[in-house]
Amino acid sequence: MSGSAPVTRVLAIDDSEDIHAILRARLEREGLVLESAASGAEGLAAVLADPPALILLDLGLPGMDGFEVLRHLKDNDRTHSIPVIVLSGSDDAKDKVRGLDMGAVDYVCKPFDHYELSARLRVALRTQRLLEMLARRAQIDGLTGLWNREHFDARLADALATSARHGAPLALAYGDLDHFKSVNDTYGHSAGDAVLEGFADILLGELREADVAFRLGGEEFALLLPDTTVEESIAVLERIRASLAGVCWPRHPDRAITCSFGVADRGVGGSWEPSAWMEAADKALYAAKNAGRDRVMIAHGEEIEPAPC
Ligand code: GH3
Ligand code: MG
Ligand code: MG
Repeated sequence: MSGSAPVTRVLAIDDSEDIHAILRARLEREGLVLESAASGAEGLAAVLADPPALILLDLGLPGMDGFEVLRHLKDNDRTHSIPVIVLSGSDDAKDKVRGLDMGAVDYVCKPFDHYELSARLRVALRTQRLLEMLARRAQIDGLTGLWNREHFDARLADALATSARHGAPLALAYGDLDHFKSVNDTYGHSAGDAVLEGFADILLGELREADVAFRLGGEEFALLLPDTTVEESIAVLERIRASLAGVCWPRHPDRAITCSFGVADRGVGGSWEPSAWMEAADKALYAAKNAGRDRVMIAHGEEIEPAPC
């Protein structure tokens, strides 16, 4: 096996060097790596540069106090979900309530018991992992295991922003299985489900690691291919069509399954708006259906063209 276990980094924002030394020794024993910041500003900069798995936050800090640091963390989309444990010399109930109400997951008073702090850290990290898993699951299609529509919307916006920034090509393709209703009607809904699962496997098998496949709903799929020109994306889609044509479906060996695809090409001076790309891919897919299905069509701006053979 190559590679090493991922490192869990905890950032302590505290103006006491002694606290950092104590925490470092304790956390190392837990297999955690401690990073240190001596002020709120330094801490916020460190979090933005490389977000840690958890933050231990002192309240009495020089300059910006811990509450203000917490407010900044919770106001920023990039940092608001990082769990924060307040580690403070104050055992005033008002401070505890304020810190927890502002979004801290826990509040531990100094001087603290090492075992208790370690246990609370483990709980916070465990809860965070569960929350991340649930958030991921909410964006995964239950039948095929592909990303769902909700994830598609966020991912397309991200991919377009990245492409626009770097001037890199991007391909967006919509795919829709042909005459799928008749598969359900003739062989039953579970045979239809097996086709959807099998098609998702083909997509995953044919795509590169950087490419992403989505089930948008029903028998409609989307593919997002970063750093891919429209010509390269056609080659990928033709490979997918060939794989699909080669499948012998156990529930209906005499009935092949085909798919129509529409590809969006922003063309010269095209838009980087997600809605424009979705509309273009949709138009090209519609044209593929109208032209007889089982083919790839490309939207070059307003023009729709068949993929060159
Ligand atoms: P076209 O070639 O024009 O795309 O025709 P089509 O029959 O594929 O399209 P239509 O939109 O008429 O039918 C889509 C069918 O997909 C109807 C619906 O019952 C079926 N479907 C949607 N979701 C699922 C699912 O999760 N499982 C199964 N088995 N079928 C589904
Ligand atoms: Mg269909
Ligand atoms: Mg459809």
